[in-house]
Amino acid sequence: MADETPTKPVSQPDELTEPFFAAGEEGRLLLATCVVCKEMRLPTSPTCPNCLGEGYEWNQVSGRGKVYTFGIMHQRYHPAWEPELPYNIAVVELEEGPRMPANIIGVENDEISVGMPVEVVWELEGEIPVPRFRPLA
Ligand SMILES: [Zn+2]
Repeated sequence: MADETPTKPVSQPDELTEPFFAAGEEGRLLLATCVVCKEMRLPTSPTCPNCLGEGYEWNQVSGRGKVYTFGIMHQRYHPAWEPELPYNIAVVELEEGPRMPANIIGVENDEISVGMPVEVVWELEGEIPVPRFRPLA
């Protein structure tokens, strides 16, 4: 009988983002950096949204940031998330500037606050590493 446990939808590595996920397997966070204006960007894209320059290189960043904003989800939008209701979705502003959507873990939802210092922690969903953030000790 097939395993019908729903799995969470996660981003799948593709040609563009494979280095991001490969680094995540090693617990490192890489961001694409424009070779023209040096601005780091998220999401990864072939063209720089700042200067429209082509080309980028991958740079490792600290993985530290602060909660920029967050919300608590009480409604089930996908069956795989039902056991975790209510769960949080935050936007973390990385030290290097880009803002990254992610879940905050290792803390109760009512203890999350805007400005809270956090650091990246990678968790596997199936075989895909997913960046999440926990409070910085
Ligand atoms: Zn640029």
